[in-house]
Amino acid sequence: MALIIDPRIVKLTTRTEIDIKRNLPHAHLRRIGAWVFLDHFGPTAQVDGMVVAAHPHTGLQTVTWPFAGKVDHRDSIGSKQLIEPGQLNLMTAGRGIAHSEMSLVGPSSLHSVQLWVALPESVRNMEPSFEHVGEPPTFALQGLEAIVFIGSLGGVESPAKVFSPLVGAELRVTGSVTLPINKGWEHGVLVIEGSPLINGEQLEKDQLIFLPTGEQALEVSGDSKLLLIGGEPFDEPIVMWWNFIARTSEEIIEMRETWNARHERFGEVVDDVGGWIPAPELPNVTLRPRI
Ligand code: MN
Repeated sequence: MALIIDPRIVKLTTRTEIDIKRNLPHAHLRRIGAWVFLDHFGPTAQVDGMVVAAHPHTGLQTVTWPFAGKVDHRDSIGSKQLIEPGQLNLMTAGRGIAHSEMSLVGPSSLHSVQLWVALPESVRNMEPSFEHVGEPPTFALQGLEAIVFIGSLGGVESPAKVFSPLVGAELRVTGSVTLPINKGWEHGVLVIEGSPLINGEQLEKDQLIFLPTGEQALEVSGDSKLLLIGGEPFDEPIVMWWNFIARTSEEIIEMRETWNARHERFGEVVDDVGGWIPAPELPNVTLRPRI
């Protein structure tokens, strides 16, 4: 049974002025494969409105895929990367990293998604790394042009390094298309532009449709721009709090204290934003691992 998820509007507590539309996690849908977080912002003419000062991550990869605008990424392992539409930034937090992001003036519009992928137990404490893919592979079918920035689809494979079977792709549909998908995987499709019919369901802009395992094809009718994510069901219980992914409440408490003490675990970010974002107070309950 397909599930349709409307985004929640989230105000970031930093200098970012624009609203974030969050489709994952959701009360009825925690994750899609190892994709655990999906934020979408813009399109907006306020092109310098995305400014997020240094903050940490653990146990996950951040996936940044812009549709319009320019964003400057800096991190505590020395990466300095301007990202533009059609390009991927993939940051592997592993045991700990810090980064900042700042959108730049110049383009007429700013529009992007940022997602998180949970790292499996075997690699979640790995050394942090950063990868930029300037030209991810593409393929075309009748009625479809696709850019595959994560994993494999349509016979092409992104060079980006991920640690569980996944796909992430931008799809431009003209008319209609039937695209075979991996039957053993879960998938989600976020509507970026248009109001297409997807696997029999009418979708509107900013809605996400979840397709559980067992679906063999993505059937889209109606001119549209879509974000496709999917992967093998990820069945490790995780604790996700603020910008951290761990396995126990104790680990989260330690990560929070370590960041707020400006411990070397997370390193220093040198950027034009300045400052850093302290972790908020923990809730007054034990955080429990969940699937
Ligand atoms: Mn971040």
